Order: sequence, then C-alpha cells, then structure tokens
Amino acid sequence: MAANHDSSDSTLRAALEANGHRFTEQRAAVYRFLAHTNIHPTADEVFLNVRSNVPGISLATVYKSLETLVGCGLATRLSYSDGCARYDGRTDPHHHARCLACGSVSDIPGHLPDRYLQDLHARSGSFRVIGYRLELTGYCVACAPGLDVGVPRTSA
Ligand SMILES: [Zn+2]
Ligand SMILES: [Zn+2]
Repeated sequence: MAANHDSSDSTLRAALEANGHRFTEQRAAVYRFLAHTNIHPTADEVFLNVRSNVPGISLATVYKSLETLVGCGLATRLSYSDGCARYDGRTDPHHHARCLACGSVSDIPGHLPDRYLQDLHARSGSFRVIGYRLELTGYCVACAPGLDVGVPRTSA
C-alpha cells in the first residue's frame, strides 16, 4: 500500500501547507484512515484505529488533527444535536442515511436536481443560502432486520 500512502500523503501535504499547517505523521495517520473508510467515524473511533500505527498518539491529538483536516477542506464534520460528531473523508457530493438506533451513517451517492434546490431557495425569503445538507433518518438493516423487504412471515 506504499503507493496509496504516497498519493494520499502528497494530497495532505499540499492542503496542509496551503493552509499554513505542517505535515506531521500524526495528521497523516488520521488522514489515511479517514480517506479509506466509509464508516464516518467519531474521534474516538479514529483514535482506536490509528493508535496501533502511531505509538504515543493521544485522543486530543486525533481530535485536533481531524479539525485541521476539516479546516483544510479534506474532511467534513457531521454534528448532531446530541453533541456527537462524526468525520467524513469523502468530500464529493453525497447524502447521508443515519440510523436512529445505532447512530451509524452511510453514504447515498449523488445529489438533488438543481431545480429542487432553486425551489427551496425561492421559499427561503431573505435567508442567504450557500449550501444544503440532506440526511435521511431511519433504521439500518442491522437494527431493523424485520423491516427488510421480502422477509417471510410465519404465523404462530
Ligand atoms: Zn443501526
Ligand atoms: Zn459521507
């Protein structure tokens, strides 16, 4: 996976330096993990995954590294009203489906047609719209297996 590291490291280095930050091995380890996962991890989950590769790294360093990546546009932070924050290394347009039971977040590729956004914009009055975020909420297949289509029902 050396080639993978090289290309993600050079992307990271360029973005960090453009924003006045230094390239560090800790930031690189956090970015490598985030760029290759689709679980939208919390800072704790990132910490658990990178600490075996980066001895001595702390949760505080992981948290600061994640926020640095967000500041450089290499990641986004998904904040929820319960105070939980998850991080997403995928920055191309996509939406999210969040499970109300376990909190897992999965990706839905693509984006809404422009006319939907224009329609919302037209109804937003004097609010100046610069973007939008769409999140579907419900239950993942692990939390609501009985809702899966086609599950045979047996009568007792
Ligand atoms: Zn779930
Ligand atoms: Zn995502």
